[in-house]
Amino acid sequence: MGSKKKQIYGLIGYPVKHSFSAAMHNAAFSHLRMNSEYKLFEINPQELRYFFHRIIPLRDVNGEEFSYEDLHGFNVTIPHKEAVLEFLNEKSPAAADIEAVNTVIVHNGSEFKGFNTDFAGFVRHITELDVNTDKVGMIGAGGAARAVAYALKTKQAEEIVIYDIDKQKAESLARSVNSWDSGCTAYAVDSIEALNLNDKTLLVNASPVGMQDDDPLLITEKMLHKDLFVYDLIYNPSWTKLLLLAQNKGLRCRNGLKMLLYQGVLAFEHWSGIDAPIDVMFDALKGEIKKCQG
Ligand code: NAP
Repeated sequence: MGSKKKQIYGLIGYPVKHSFSAAMHNAAFSHLRMNSEYKLFEINPQELRYFFHRIIPLRDVNGEEFSYEDLHGFNVTIPHKEAVLEFLNEKSPAAADIEAVNTVIVHNGSEFKGFNTDFAGFVRHITELDVNTDKVGMIGAGGAARAVAYALKTKQAEEIVIYDIDKQKAESLARSVNSWDSGCTAYAVDSIEALNLNDKTLLVNASPVGMQDDDPLLITEKMLHKDLFVYDLIYNPSWTKLLLLAQNKGLRCRNGLKMLLYQGVLAFEHWSGIDAPIDVMFDALKGEIKKCQG
């Protein structure tokens, strides 16, 4: 692989500076001695069209410029996961249903195929944990929640009850779930209490609440019960107030670090066509978390 031109991969989003993806993918490339590198590309919403049409220079966050010809694939993050759909030549059935894409393969420099590996990453982690996904309460109805809801559908969930601060978003996600033609029913509620966790087997936090130290705890202790699994998509901090409460009450719980790992593993495999070095990628992610914790 040494004489071939370096293949560039990366992340497009706005902002992208705090992403752990570069560490994870570059660790994999270097472990496998691939002549590839993962870069962070900050593209604002107005520029997205010009990026796909290759009109703006392809510059990473450090100002280094690359040729679009060398870009073989990229991840997509906030706020572009839905907006990229209109620029794709092809998308996987899951990405079409979820209506969000986080991984793109570039063919011949200008043909784009989109996937959603967030959903598949969540499926892989929840399966590994052997979580009962029959009845689910979900906080948040943004892009990540859509991927999780689709994952839960594939795990044969019976019911998903969704609370979002923006009720219209929760209703829209519930409508999507109900249109996916599975045995899964979803509906939106007006408050966290109305999630009615008493009869749920899984609580998912797919909102950003918990990322900041001064974020409130949205759940009260008495809403939890011992058979409820608590999954927080947040991975930094590793222990949100929600996860600490669940753990102190003796509930099974996990953060989203392995979902992040598995979405990256699946993206890597889409791009390279070879098995990803999972342990190497996981070590790189844990290293990034350690750095954040100082
Ligand atoms: P997003 O598209 O911004 O969606 C977040 C949703 O939560 C929005 O609809 C937001 O409503 C809602 N929300 C905000 N505050 C709320 C509250 N107090 N109660 C209920 N809902 C509230 O973000 P996202 O991309 O879905 O990401 C959500 C979280 O998942 C983030 O923490 C992200 O880091 C994490 N994530 C993790 C992984 C992983 O691999 N582990 C992957 C993707 C995302 P408004 O828009 O009205 O504020």
